[in-house]
Amino acid sequence: MTHATPSLSLIVPAYNEEANIAETVRQIAAEAARLVPGFEIVIVDDGSRDGTCAAALEIGKTIPLRLLRFSRNFGKEQAIMAGLNAARGDAVVILDADLQEPISYLEPMLKHRAEGYDMVYAVRANRADEGIAKRLFTRVFYKFINYGGETSIPEDARDFRLMDRKVVNALCALPENNRFMKGLYSWVGFRSIAVPIKLAPRKGGSSKFGFRSLLRHGLTGMTSFTNWPLRVWTGIGFGIAVLSILYGFWIFLRTLFFGVDVPGWSTLTVAVFLLGGVQLISVGVLGEYLARVFAEVKGRPGYIIAEEIETTSEGK
Ligand code: UDP
Ligand code: MG
Repeated sequence: MTHATPSLSLIVPAYNEEANIAETVRQIAAEAARLVPGFEIVIVDDGSRDGTCAAALEIGKTIPLRLLRFSRNFGKEQAIMAGLNAARGDAVVILDADLQEPISYLEPMLKHRAEGYDMVYAVRANRADEGIAKRLFTRVFYKFINYGGETSIPEDARDFRLMDRKVVNALCALPENNRFMKGLYSWVGFRSIAVPIKLAPRKGGSSKFGFRSLLRHGLTGMTSFTNWPLRVWTGIGFGIAVLSILYGFWIFLRTLFFGVDVPGWSTLTVAVFLLGGVQLISVGVLGEYLARVFAEVKGRPGYIIAEEIETTSEGK
């Protein structure tokens, strides 16, 4: 049953999840009805090209829900933001549409909230299901992003979390459009606690995050939450300059005492290629940050909602 001001909003970002969405809604509704007096289910259809919307509307005939349809695929981060902006609950839960995050963890999350925590987030107990390369990549990424940063982003945290209204308001008030939610959750602060969860295998369909989209996502995260890759070039440049001066001095002395021998063309070639490479890397890093600044300066909205539907159960 949906109230005018529900105590809990459950946000489900969904992209091509026709195989899962009905079951997800059913499970969420059953568990939420058991645990809280009032709730709403907000499904954000992130530009799905399959029957996700139709399946949601169908289940919506028996279980009231709100459906936000994006005009195209804007990505999970934006789908989460749209859900947060639309949510009316005193607390908000975000969870995936693929039933990987068991809804049974809602109960311990609510318990933590009752203890006074403003944010209760799920961390995966282990990554045994992932390949060694992905695990290594993730480890290195979090080392990089947390290096010298003001916020520390927990490595295995999920988007699956319960947040108090004040956390949601803080997130919605942030002006940036290219969002790296996992960083922002940490950045806003508040009393937080982790709940270890065991992920279930994806129910139907396939994962939307391949290597390339993860890489793009990672770059957004890096450029949002670090400055050190920009600064490190000052140090590198300084180091190379000092070494060059010392080397020049050495050549000067050597020429003075031993005369000119056959010029070292190999040294020259190596120096040219190495410095060319180093310079290109530094320009590339600059470019990444500049691209982000450019995207923000354009001020385009993060997402566009094409349609907003609120279903009511039939005969009520
Ligand atoms: N998702 C989305 N927009 C996208 C990609 C994914 O809303 O562009 C949703 C997807 O429907 C699912 C959640 O984000 O509910 C997590 O996606 P997925 O299960 O593919 O990621 P994985 O679990 O493999 O990391
Ligand atoms: Mg998944």
